[in-house]
Amino acid sequence: KTRVRFAPSPTGPLHIGGVRTALYNYLFAKQQGGDFILRIEDTDSSRFVPGAEEYIQETFDWLGLPFDESPLKGGSYGPYKQSQRKEIYKQYVNALLDKGAAYIAFDTPEELEAKRAEISNFQYDASTRGKMRNSLTLSEEETVSLIKSGTQYVVRIKIEPNQEIIVDDMIRGKVVINSSVLDDKVIYKSADELPTYHLANVVDDHLMEITHVIRGEEWLPSAPLHVWLYRSLGWEDDMPKFAHLPLLLKPEGNGKLSKRDGDRLGFPVFPLQWNDPKSGEISSGYRESGYLAEAVINFLAFLGWNPGTEQEIFSLNELVQAFSFERCSKNGAKFDVEKAKWYNHQYILRMSDSDLAKLFMPVLGEKGISVSNDMVVKAIRLVKERIHFIGELWDQSYFFFVAPTGYDEKTVKKRWKEETPAQMKQLAALLEGTDDFSAKNQEKTVMDWIQQNQLHTGNVMNAFRLAIVGAGKGPHMFDITEVIGKEETLHRLEQAIS
Ligand code: GLU
Repeated sequence: KTRVRFAPSPTGPLHIGGVRTALYNYLFAKQQGGDFILRIEDTDSSRFVPGAEEYIQETFDWLGLPFDESPLKGGSYGPYKQSQRKEIYKQYVNALLDKGAAYIAFDTPEELEAKRAEISNFQYDASTRGKMRNSLTLSEEETVSLIKSGTQYVVRIKIEPNQEIIVDDMIRGKVVINSSVLDDKVIYKSADELPTYHLANVVDDHLMEITHVIRGEEWLPSAPLHVWLYRSLGWEDDMPKFAHLPLLLKPEGNGKLSKRDGDRLGFPVFPLQWNDPKSGEISSGYRESGYLAEAVINFLAFLGWNPGTEQEIFSLNELVQAFSFERCSKNGAKFDVEKAKWYNHQYILRMSDSDLAKLFMPVLGEKGISVSNDMVVKAIRLVKERIHFIGELWDQSYFFFVAPTGYDEKTVKKRWKEETPAQMKQLAALLEGTDDFSAKNQEKTVMDWIQQNQLHTGNVMNAFRLAIVGAGKGPHMFDITEVIGKEETLHRLEQAIS
């Protein structure tokens, strides 16, 4: 059975690139009828940020991408938080030590610093480990007595030189490297009795029976070490398959997308708003900025993948069907803000007017406006073409709900002529006598009247709009008056004349 995991470290808000990684994991798992697992990689306690784990969970609740196993949900491969798996890792560290595939090193930070100063491009490996203070150079008694006396140590993986390591990546193909380029990475620290990311990650992927490791390109350089760890642990034969996803790039394409790009260009780089517990800084999120979860999913799917057809709108289910690693790009994906907005617009258009009304009602409520749902639905139908976000609805539709409290000065100067008040008076009388107040009938009645009296259509209609809306904007005039109704229309005309 296909099993994939999303394995974030709770060191802050999830970056939108992380969400994209999780999404690809989800799409692939569901396509294969497999499981999508959340594992919290919190072995680096110095980087732990309170609230970050909850933030991750809330993000996927909002997006509607449920985990099959997670710290919250549990599952038969738990615990799903690395900080609760200390004892498990210790076992494997000991097994590696017993096999001679790893060793204990006592070098202090100062000693390492001195070596780096002495040897240029110093790397702790087969060529240098013989000169360092570790269990390979010390006698067994010395090693044991150092440990007994409470000396802090680390465990390093012992990389044999000149071995071939193959990373077979579903997106990048086969990458072959020589083990000599790798250093003897630290896999465990006595100070906090915790493994490092590399060991914990490999042990967990194995024990959780992960079949595919799908993660960001920034982990590609670690992949050879991971392959080596699988080999050392005797698990190379059923190693998971790898897929390293292309980076998300700045809109200009020059480098990795960062929070600063978001601030600079006015778009969020986080799925949800993040209130930083330390600095108190508040960073905007897609949810709070008015993006719909479906739109975010759709546009993220396209950052690094394409279906090979013209189709751009995909439901989550369609994405599950269509997704493939063959169609994932090796190159970074440029972030495109306009495209993100376009997607949101498309999903707004696909929402029913009554669902949109449900989202808009609270906004109206906050402004103390109480109107019928029916009226809100009608107004939304007329203006939704014009918005990218629910938050823009008010600006596009307020005149359905409140009479003008003032008139746009520029428009008044241009459109409100000497003869206008008299014309508006006649227009009011005409509309008052119009029983069928449908847009269609109003239009016919008013146009006939304009023609019969040889009035200037533009002048009359623009003044009419000014009277009803308060400015020179809005959808088709008679659609507006149909929605607000005869009484309100006459009231606004009167108000404008006086
Ligand atoms: N904890 C790593 C991260 O924060 C996981 C990398 C991986 O998926 O292997 O991205």
